[in-house]
Amino acid sequence: MIIILKRNAEEAKVRQLCSELESMGLSIHASQGSDEHILGLVGDTKAVAESWVLAHPVVEACRRVSEPYKKANRKFHPEDTVVQVGDTLIGGDKFAVIAGPCSVESPEQITEVARRVKAAGSSLLRGGAFKPRTSPYSFQGMRAEGLTLLEHAREQVGSPIVTEVMNTEHLPLFENVDLIQVGARNMQNFELLKAVGRMNKPVLLKRGLANTLEEFVMSAEYIMAEGNEQVILCERGIRTFETSMRNTLDISAVPMLKRMTHLPVVIDPSHAAGIAWMVEPLAKAAVAVGADGLMIEVHNDPPRAKCDGAQSLTPDAFDALMEQLKPQLTFFGKTLN
Ligand code: PEP
Ligand code: MN
Repeated sequence: MIIILKRNAEEAKVRQLCSELESMGLSIHASQGSDEHILGLVGDTKAVAESWVLAHPVVEACRRVSEPYKKANRKFHPEDTVVQVGDTLIGGDKFAVIAGPCSVESPEQITEVARRVKAAGSSLLRGGAFKPRTSPYSFQGMRAEGLTLLEHAREQVGSPIVTEVMNTEHLPLFENVDLIQVGARNMQNFELLKAVGRMNKPVLLKRGLANTLEEFVMSAEYIMAEGNEQVILCERGIRTFETSMRNTLDISAVPMLKRMTHLPVVIDPSHAAGIAWMVEPLAKAAVAVGADGLMIEVHNDPPRAKCDGAQSLTPDAFDALMEQLKPQLTFFGKTLN
């Protein structure tokens, strides 16, 4: 249920209403927007009669929320959420580009790519240290050493770092990571979602290969229900019957997610396409459809990349892409930061 408060509702009376609701076992998610002050009720609201709520002098209106996601629901929080990672803002009119290699491979590789992608205008550095690979015989990432190299690249270049955690046991190693990624294959690893929900750190949650948008938002709800509301959603392509691309970018997910939730939505065209030349048109589509950011794989030597070389842009190609995106972002009223 959401309760819309009257403009200029008396503070003490609002507090009294909140404590009455809390004594009924509900938790309250307050959202003070520029237009409306909303109380979102989380818990079993069956026993809360609408007539009882409406009789309260500070209440303008109340509505039941039928969707199973509450904290992530735009009805609870009509304004866009803006997530901060270091000095970078994502959401609202703030657009951010996350770029870097699929995996961290050496100190030279990560530092060189970090330098180039920052110079081109991206603000966050990605790089996988723990890699979820289909084959146990493929490169599994540099693991803890990869995290150290990312931290070193951050010191050298100044970009906050984004990297994937695959299980709860590894989380203590991620203390110095700026934005924790939960990958597509772990989107419904509920224990991992709860664990990152207990951290005070932004989370980039990628959509599962075959998950509906409601399942995706429910996974964000798992993180938020634990108290961490700094969640960024990432559409990265889904499984369809099409085989000419690695995945099919579900571009419709952006406007639909923005209607369902208030969370920022970014697009990963690299994993969606699996082909480097398709990253540019998909990135432009992402901007046009209202995404809040992009995650793009860039490698200094794609043919020799240990992972995902075919979809990785060279630093020169990334420069060219960013030059094309900048006027497009201005046209769509987004600020690159
Ligand atoms: C990645 O970003 O490195 C990755 C493995 O992506 P996904 O989880 O979307 O496959
Ligand atoms: Mn990859």
